Amino acid sequence: MKEPRLPPGSSDPLTYTCTCSSPNGLILLFYRYYNSPPTLTPSFTPAALAAFHSDLATRYQLAGKFRIANEGFNITVGGSREGVGKYVRMCIAHESFAGLGLSLSEEQEGGGGEGGDVKEKGGQEEEWQFGPIAKKFFKPSTGCSCAFSNLASVRIVEEITPMGVSGYEPKWGTVERLSPEKFHELCSQKDDDDDDGGRCLIDVRNHYESRIGYFVDRGAPEGERVAIRPGIRRFAQWPKYASKFPAPPLSQSSSPENSNSNSNSKGNNEKGAEEEEETKKQKKKKKIITYCTGGIRCEKGAHYLAEQLGPSAQICTLEGGIAAYLLWLQDEIRHGRKTASDSLFRGRNYVFDARGSLGIEGPAAHHHPVAKCHLCDTPADALGKCETPGCHLILVVCGSCKEGGNRLVCCADCGQRGEGAEKRICLCEMRRETELWGEEEVRRWEEKARMRKKKGGKAGDGGGEINIRVKRIE
Ligand SMILES: [Zn+2]
Ligand SMILES: [Zn+2]
Ligand SMILES: [Zn+2]
Ligand SMILES: [Zn+2]
Repeated sequence: MKEPRLPPGSSDPLTYTCTCSSPNGLILLFYRYYNSPPTLTPSFTPAALAAFHSDLATRYQLAGKFRIANEGFNITVGGSREGVGKYVRMCIAHESFAGLGLSLSEEQEGGGGEGGDVKEKGGQEEEWQFGPIAKKFFKPSTGCSCAFSNLASVRIVEEITPMGVSGYEPKWGTVERLSPEKFHELCSQKDDDDDDGGRCLIDVRNHYESRIGYFVDRGAPEGERVAIRPGIRRFAQWPKYASKFPAPPLSQSSSPENSNSNSNSKGNNEKGAEEEEETKKQKKKKKIITYCTGGIRCEKGAHYLAEQLGPSAQICTLEGGIAAYLLWLQDEIRHGRKTASDSLFRGRNYVFDARGSLGIEGPAAHHHPVAKCHLCDTPADALGKCETPGCHLILVVCGSCKEGGNRLVCCADCGQRGEGAEKRICLCEMRRETELWGEEEVRRWEEKARMRKKKGGKAGDGGGEINIRVKRIE
């Protein structure tokens, strides 16, 4: 299947008009690292797996992005409910999904499967539901192939989500995965471990993603605390961010004052001294919880952070990311166990297809934008892009400004540049990079870029230069 390349300097659309007739269509978001438990030693090649998905996409009229590598796969795919069902059935039977415990339940109406999906009534459509594990894995949301311009883009890549550290292989299994339920419980609990809070929530996504939606920690000593949202532009900047992240002070559990403050001390005579010491250390460790869109960036990103911080921190990650959390919460709301106001997620979940972003679906769907329109400052979370060729920075723009037809540019610097202008980073982006890394570092990169240009090299060919291309992550 040939995939037309986007013209240089452009990027994926943020809005679309559905022209298909799949009102019950679905979009799935899923991935697997073969070395992450449950592990798999594949006997197939990336090319064979690519052909498998490519064939299915053609057969069932699906569209989406399929990224396949030696390390695993990263897929978002959409189509009619029927087509997606057939696709999922074929996937589950394929070796690349072995060991994950995925299943579809095919009970008849009223059978009460646990997938939580509404079944078609009396139609010709084949009835199917996700089993509970499959639902968590595939993370279905409402959508259709139009969100991908009806294109199936299948590519064999180096990394299924580019973190850009060559040869990096995490010490898998050293990061605790929290189910959405556990995550919700943990971040709702009062956190009084420390003066500045023993818990720290970090958003691993890019700045334009965390601008329109983020988690809050409801148990922070001061009340609600918004997650740390790094000003990075793409995931390849995460390792550098992680390496600069301040390590919390090492546990001083050997000092007598600390051992007195151990609230578990009553039961300690039943435990071995070693175990007691270990528990204390765990308690004094700063707990860092990471999250991203669908969990894939945290797989490598959280391990990388854990390896940078060493034993002073305990790193956990939200399994399945925001997408899994919203699905879980939707089910909780549907069953009357939670209401929309219980959500620890504020705003909308940015997605890398033309839907732009997702929130809770169903009757509880109302939401309050957490961002403001770039042009008029009213609360908004619809997305647009800087119209300057070569910039295309993602910006928040409200409906009336979009309709009003005002030119959307990220900053005055970009606004002054016209067609065919020299391609370089604009001033607002430069400001963000400077805030992130410090002036000196940014100046060094600029100097390097200038030298390279003098020597006749291409702009943007690596070497630590600020590279402003937006890469698709998930
Ligand atoms: Zn459509
Ligand atoms: Zn506006
Ligand atoms: Zn711009
Ligand atoms: Zn700008």
